[in-house]
Amino acid sequence: MTRPTPGAGRFAPSPSADLHIGNLRTAVLTWLFARSTGRNFLMRVEDLDDRTHDNVAQRQLDDLAAIGVTWDGEPQWQSRQRERYDTVIAELVERDLVYECYCSRKDILSAPRAPHAPEGAYPGTCRDLSTAERAAKRETGRPPALRLRADTGEYTVTDVIHGSYTGVVDDFVLRRGDGVPAYNLAVVVDDARSGIDQVVRGHDLLASAPRQAYLAGLLGYPQPVYGHVPLVLNAEGKRLAKRDGAVTLAELGVTRTFALITESLGWPSSDMAELLGRFDPARLPREPWVYQPV
Ligand code: GLU
Repeated sequence: MTRPTPGAGRFAPSPSADLHIGNLRTAVLTWLFARSTGRNFLMRVEDLDDRTHDNVAQRQLDDLAAIGVTWDGEPQWQSRQRERYDTVIAELVERDLVYECYCSRKDILSAPRAPHAPEGAYPGTCRDLSTAERAAKRETGRPPALRLRADTGEYTVTDVIHGSYTGVVDDFVLRRGDGVPAYNLAVVVDDARSGIDQVVRGHDLLASAPRQAYLAGLLGYPQPVYGHVPLVLNAEGKRLAKRDGAVTLAELGVTRTFALITESLGWPSSDMAELLGRFDPARLPREPWVYQPV
C-alpha cells in the first residue's frame, strides 16, 4: 500500500537584504506549522528582481540553517525557471484573461475611483481600451505591464489564524512593465508546482492571499490553506528593519537569536526539536512582537 504524499509548507525569502530577527521568527513559524502537521518543508529563493543578489541569498540560507530551519531537497531559485511564468501568462492570454496596462503608479493613484472602491485597487483604466486608444498609449513609449482581467471583486480564503478571510481581488499585475513576472503570479505558479498546500508567512501578505487564491482557482490549482503570522515591530510600532540596530544573526549570534525568538513565542527552547514539542498553534501570540534591540 502506498502512503499518500504529504503536502508541503515553505519559506520564500526575497534576497534583498540579510534576514533580521523578524524574518527569522516567521521562518521558524513556517517550519513549525509544516513539521507539526507532518508536511515536507521547502525553501524558495524569490530572486526574480534584478536588485537581488546571490550572495545575500546564500547568507539567508546559511542563517536559516544555523538556527535549525531544515528543508527538504535543494532550494528553488525563481530566476532559474523564468520560462514557467511566461508559459502560464501565455495560457491566460489565450483565455483572454490578460490586458496591457500603461498606467504609472501616479496615474493609478490619481485616477477617479468608484465610491466604494478599495484603497490601492486598480481602477480598471486600461481594461477596455479601444484598439485606437491602445495604439495611442503604445506611442508614449512606456512598456506595458500585463494585468489579469479578474471578474470578481473579492475572494475568500481559509487562514489557520484568521479563519475565513475575504479580501479585494482587483485586476492585479501578472508581468511588470520591465518584463519581470509579478510576485503574485510567481508565488501561485511555484506553490502549485511544488505541491505546497500550506502557505505560512507574515501578516503583511494577508491582503494578497485572496488575489493569489483566485488566480490559483482560475488556473485549476488546488487552494492552499494560509496562515499569516504576527509581524515583528520596532519601538515605534513600525515593521522591524535593519536600521533598527542589532537585528541580524551576525549581530546577535545564533544562541541569543533563538532564545529571543522562542521566548517571544512563549515557548523558550534551546533547539527546534524542543520547540516543536511545545508548539501549539492555538496558543500562538496574536499580537505583533515589539522588539527593541539592546
Ligand atoms: N518573498 C516574499 C517576502 O520575502 C514572501 C512571499 C510569500 O511567502 O508568499 O516577503
